[in-house]
This record gives sequence, C-alpha cells and structure tokens, in this order.
Amino acid sequence: SVPASIASALSVGTRRGLLLKGGAVIEATAKASMVAFDKTGTLTAGRPVVTDVVPADETKDADAVVTLAASLEQGSSHPLAEAILQRAQEQGLALTRVSEAKAIAGHGVEARIDTRRAFVVSPRYATDLGVLPESLAASIAALEESGKTTVVVIDGDTATGLIALRDEPREDATAGVRALSAMGVRSVMLTGDNPRTAAAIADTIGLEYRAGLLPDDKVTMIREFTERERVMMVGDGINDAPALATAHVGVAMGSGTDVALETADGALLRNRVGDVAAMIGLARDTMANIR
Ligand code: ADP
Ligand code: MG
Repeated sequence: SVPASIASALSVGTRRGLLLKGGAVIEATAKASMVAFDKTGTLTAGRPVVTDVVPADETKDADAVVTLAASLEQGSSHPLAEAILQRAQEQGLALTRVSEAKAIAGHGVEARIDTRRAFVVSPRYATDLGVLPESLAASIAALEESGKTTVVVIDGDTATGLIALRDEPREDATAGVRALSAMGVRSVMLTGDNPRTAAAIADTIGLEYRAGLLPDDKVTMIREFTERERVMMVGDGINDAPALATAHVGVAMGSGTDVALETADGALLRNRVGDVAAMIGLARDTMANIR
C-alpha cells in the first residue's frame, strides 16, 4: 500500500542517514531535475586554513597582517574568521582590542581601532572602498586562480596586506556530482566567493557554478531555477535557510544540520555529497513502487 511504501522509505532512509520529512517530500525529491549546492560546508568541508599571508609593501610584515585580521575577526563565527584566529593562536600573536565590530554580510567584517576604521573584506569590497593597491591585485588574481579565497586587511585608508585561505572539496564531491549526472540530474554550485576561486573549485569537482552571490542573490537564483527545473537545494541551513525554503526541496547537510532540521524538508546526516544521489534514488524507487 502507499502508506506502507512511504513508511518503509522513511525508515530505510533514516537508517542510512537520509532524513526526509514525509510523503510529499519523497514525491518532490523523486522529481528533482537539478541540485543547487551551497559551496562552503556543503561541497567543501567548510574548514578553511590560511595558506598565504602577503604584506602590502616592505614596510609591513606578515605577523602584523595576521594580528590585525584576527583582532577584527574575534567576534565572528564565519569559517574564514575561525581560520584566521587559529593562525594567530598558532603563531602566539597577541590580539589588539577593537570596538564596534560588525559583520558586513557577504563581504567581511568592520571594526574600530582607536579612532580608525579597519576591515577584513573580500577584494571586491576593498576595491569599492578604493584601498586595493596594484601590488596586491596581482597576487590576488594568482591565488584565486589556484582555488584560494583571499581577504584584504585594511587599517584606516590603507591596505596592510592580504590573507589567502583554502577550503578543500569534500572527498567524494566529484563522485557525488557524477552520480547525479548519471541519473540525469544537473548540479550547480552557488557561492558568495569570487568568480575566479569558484571556477577553480567547480572545475576540480566538475559542475556548473554561480559566484559572487550575496545571501539574497541565492534566493533569487533558486527562484529563477524553479521556473525551469524541479530544484533540490542542499546547504548548511544556517545562512541558507531562505534559499532552502525557496527550492522545491530544501536539504540540510554539514555543521548546521541540527538547527536546519526545523525548517528544511530533509537532511543528510553523514556529510557525504554522494548521499544526495542516494536520497533521490531512494525517493525514485519508492515512487516507482507506488505507481
Ligand atoms: P559562501 O557563499 O562561500 O559561504 P559568504 O557569503 O559567507 O561565502 O562570504 C563571501 C565572501 O565574503 C567571502 O569569500 C569573503 O571574501 C568575504 N567574507 C565574508 N565573511 C567574512 C569574514 N568574517 N572575514 C573575512 N571575509 C569575509
Ligand atoms: Mg556562507
């Protein structure tokens, strides 16, 4: 019977860490023609590490760049902030007191040191502030082309330097996307990261991407996709909750799974990209048995 098939799919899924919230979600999952993945913490492990520190000129040193950046990031729980704080701690650097620290969504953080404003932000935002020197711009392009994310550290109206970070794709990201493709499901990566870094990571994994997206842009992008495709969105559920809600099916994966379960339609408890294909496969088999 239909209720028995659904109940069986739900319990088989639960045993494999594939949580689906009921029959309607199974039905929508079976129809998915496209998966939109958030990048950080979903396709990647979400644990970036600092790889390079580049002072803006010879009057500045790398420790000063990390000290300032870590001081500004003290109150932030962004993965990039955690990586920068980790580096400062490893090097035994003493942090400076800052005040009025606040996040600039999709761009970085800003705070006050003495009477000066200071920032750790994306190169795009640094350009908008008019404080990105040519010397750093060339380094940034090369670092981004190798798949690293760069942030610019700014004190007052001058750049102190830049920090590059790498967040590795999850081990099974390539295989997971390939499995979807073999089922006729298209995969796209959505990210707030810059287009060069996004292209390098997307090429490594082997999927389409949309870069430079602010949190609201992700929602707009999902809405556009839903006009042409049956869309499953997979994200960490913390920053992505509105995009997850906009997709036909919103699935949480990674660090935010517990929180996200309240709003998402489903969750992947084992943090495997390959489980997205497994979830769609389970839903398809279930619907085929019912018909
Ligand atoms: P993603 O979509 O990959 O999760 P976010 O929207 O969180 O990216 O961030 C987009 C970009 O904004 C980052 O690549 C980085 O350049 C910058 N950024 C965001 N938060 C911070 C922060 N706390 N410190 C430094 N840079 C940040
Ligand atoms: Mg994010």
